[in-house]
Amino acid sequence: MSPDRLPDCLFCRIVAGEIPSTTVAEDEAVLAIRDIAPRAPTHVLLMPKRHIGSAADLTEADGPLLGGIFALAAGIARSLGIADDGYRVVTNIGRWGGQTVDHLHFHLMGGRPFEWPPG
Ligand code: 5GP
Ligand code: ZN
Repeated sequence: MSPDRLPDCLFCRIVAGEIPSTTVAEDEAVLAIRDIAPRAPTHVLLMPKRHIGSAADLTEADGPLLGGIFALAAGIARSLGIADDGYRVVTNIGRWGGQTVDHLHFHLMGGRPFEWPPG
């Protein structure tokens, strides 16, 4: 088992309240916060409270965690009024994937149309 938190991890420190953030929603296992540099009118980050490096580190046992993250994302999208037009949930993995914070997180983005494929 990996440790629940890493001392030098930015998002572990946000989960612990050591670095301020704006909470949008949370449950026992997941924290959703506003992105500090939003790339869309609505840009929320959903992260497990337990440290997981990226989606590449997930296992079968994380199924309930992932279901909870997507259900929470859908609820946030509805409550923030972006659900009807549609929105995007994305996770970046590794350098070429665009990951800059090595603690698993999902970007929930909406309020404007998005291109496909992403740049
Ligand atoms: P990534 O590039 O790893 O997919 O996403 C990291 C995201 O974290 C970026 O969208 C970035 O703006 C956001 N971010 C980086 N530092 C902070 C911070 O201190 N607070 C918050 N709320 N978001 C952050
Ligand atoms: Zn972490």
